[in-house]
Amino acid sequence: MADSVRRLLGKPGAVDLRPYTKLLESIEAREPDLRDLSDAELTDRATELGSADLPYDRHDLVELCAVGREAARRTLDERPFDVQLLGVMALLDGHIAEMATGEGKTLSGALAAAGFALRGQRVHVLSVNDYLARRDAEWMAPLYDMLGVAVAWIGEESTAEERRAAYSADVTYASVSELGFDVLRDRMVTDIEQRVVPEPSIALIDEADSVLVDEARVPLVLAGAAETTDADVEMAELVRHLTPGTDYEIDPEGRNVQLTEAGIDRVEKELGGVDLYDEDDTSVLPRVNLALHAHALLQRDVHYVVRDGEVRLINESRGRIALLQRWPDGLQAAVEAKERVAVSDTGEVLDSITVQSLVLRYPTRCGMTGTAMAVADQLREFYELEVAVIPPNKPCIREDEGTRLYATREEKEDALVEEIAEVHATGRPILIGTQDVAESELLAKRLGADGLECVVLNAKNDADEAAIIAEAGTYGAITVSTQMAGRGTDIRLGGSDMADRDRVVEKGGLYVMGYGRYPSSRLDDQLRGRAGRQGDPGASAYFVSVEDDLVANNAPETRGYEAQGDGAITDESWLRMVDHAQRVSEGKLLEVHRNTWRYNQLIDVQRGVVLEHREAVLRDDLGDRQLSIDCPAHHAELVEAAGAEETARAARLITLYHLDRGWTDHNAFLAELREGIHLRFLGRRDPLDEFNRDAVPAFKGFLDEARARAAETFAEAEVGEDGTIDVAEVGVKRPTMTWTYMVHDHPFSSGLETAIGRFRGKLSASGQMA
Ligand code: ADP
Ligand code: MG
Repeated sequence: MADSVRRLLGKPGAVDLRPYTKLLESIEAREPDLRDLSDAELTDRATELGSADLPYDRHDLVELCAVGREAARRTLDERPFDVQLLGVMALLDGHIAEMATGEGKTLSGALAAAGFALRGQRVHVLSVNDYLARRDAEWMAPLYDMLGVAVAWIGEESTAEERRAAYSADVTYASVSELGFDVLRDRMVTDIEQRVVPEPSIALIDEADSVLVDEARVPLVLAGAAETTDADVEMAELVRHLTPGTDYEIDPEGRNVQLTEAGIDRVEKELGGVDLYDEDDTSVLPRVNLALHAHALLQRDVHYVVRDGEVRLINESRGRIALLQRWPDGLQAAVEAKERVAVSDTGEVLDSITVQSLVLRYPTRCGMTGTAMAVADQLREFYELEVAVIPPNKPCIREDEGTRLYATREEKEDALVEEIAEVHATGRPILIGTQDVAESELLAKRLGADGLECVVLNAKNDADEAAIIAEAGTYGAITVSTQMAGRGTDIRLGGSDMADRDRVVEKGGLYVMGYGRYPSSRLDDQLRGRAGRQGDPGASAYFVSVEDDLVANNAPETRGYEAQGDGAITDESWLRMVDHAQRVSEGKLLEVHRNTWRYNQLIDVQRGVVLEHREAVLRDDLGDRQLSIDCPAHHAELVEAAGAEETARAARLITLYHLDRGWTDHNAFLAELREGIHLRFLGRRDPLDEFNRDAVPAFKGFLDEARARAAETFAEAEVGEDGTIDVAEVGVKRPTMTWTYMVHDHPFSSGLETAIGRFRGKLSASGQMA
């Protein structure tokens, strides 16, 4: 047994690897036999594994790993390392395999996916973006092929037909967002045949902590064009005259705006003496806030442009005008009112699902990432997942310096730039990790001014980023990137072709510098992990200042340190303060996650009830049966005149319309309720109790009401001259256009701060909703 394996056997709180390591010898022993087989014979061996059900017994597990290893060697020219097979076994047991960056998780994941697929399971391999989904599916395709497993991928551009075909493969690679959008659209179909996603079975999640923890509470949204709402011209005009600083205050980050006491008084007076905080009428305050948000936080030519009499959003993270994107809900109309342009069709949220709920649909979940142990508790609490810590193939020799602390931001930046200049002079490649694109660009400017040419990853396009980050290990390269950018791409020393590898190794390999610590130590580790892959030399250091948001907002004390001439603070207790601040930040994030989860559980339960009912309408003509009871005479009349089948079709469309309409309204009510609770400053009362107290009764009569409305509509339906029933005549109109987006912060977390244009996504095939 390799030393590295023995070393990690006893990691507390992690899955015991011994049952897996025991099999490694037998797997290796199968190798000579398997090498003698023809390709076709090897495929047969794989197929034979399909004669039993999950889970694999020890004998079959050995065979699967041995056959998989041989197939990978032949098709990819990569013979899986022992540790990669440990990863495969952990995944097949439904665990999260923690494997460092560059250890070859793509291959481990593919072998596990094939293992599930051979046993008749349908596997969805979920990636963090479309680029990786496609890359990995195409990269692993020859391997799957030799194992007799069908593989496919889905991208943003895929049509409904292509999606349906891709989902019918044994293994389907997709980004979490595309999968989510498909699930949302499927929940709105009016005919079973229109569905694209099959019943969920196994989810194998790459970068599992990003998806399951960092993005867990991100809602994926399906919106539709509904009727135009009136612009709130009154509010737009009112807030236009408020005085910043006196009537309202904007937080330092420019993400939040709030009325002051004076502002509240003034608005109440100008509206003719209303009470903004009236518990019985909570409708006014959100209108004021919306208008204020549009007025004070969204700047023309920064967040949007007005062109051809239309408000067009600038996607902040991408810096481009996004033609087909718009702000959610009323915000678009509020900006239009502010700019006094004609109000366009407003979007309406038809349905939404969080990443967490999406993943929990799968009865079996597993995944891999470089950093899981730090969130092992959360993975257990929210997903019932355990972490298996897989040792590296070669020991990691990266030198992690830790944190260099400075008094001010300026001093920290000076020190960082000085370090970059010094190291760069030797030719050693440098990767600098920032918090966001704006920070990257500022730093790049500064470096440029100092004569240090660098490449910036600016979040424009995942494929371009991958190509750039792949070269970050080139001799003399300086690359500036956010922690997220270029994820999943291997950084090879000496450039992607490794032409200059020896020279870069000699200089010490890639040097990763953090321009500040991240809100969690796990994110620090992810950035660090960019260096030192597969036993490569490398180094890392974090440059932090007491003025950094992380420290300033989370440290109990930010004064009283002793700094040296250049601002450096070397006192151990101050360095510990930074760690402490980070732990506080982690705690806050967890609290937000837990909180969102508690809200969403109730919403998911209610959505589940509606969906179950919807299913019965789709599959068993429940709507038709109910309407034949509720409107017997009219029902009978239609069945003569139009036939039973046509009547059932109309009944189905009418019933679904009212279920969906009802859900959209209820969903909006829940969002407003939660927003309102937040804005009402409940003080001592538990907001979740308050939420449930209103949300539960509001749902109580949901199905009855939808049924009653369907009966009313049905009673008016008539047979046309062509013998069909035109349901549009009686108001059954589905959205003419739909689009999808992801809200990267939770829209309810604090006022409207997050509703601003930080969502991705675009117009979807509108045909799917019709
Ligand atoms: P991770 O996702 O763990 O960061 P990747 O799956 O992207 O790593 O693989 C990193 C690199 O290692 C890729 O270039 C891949 O081709 C290579 N690789 C993976 N497994 C092996 C192997 N068994 N032998 C040789 N190279 C491998
Ligand atoms: Mg990867």
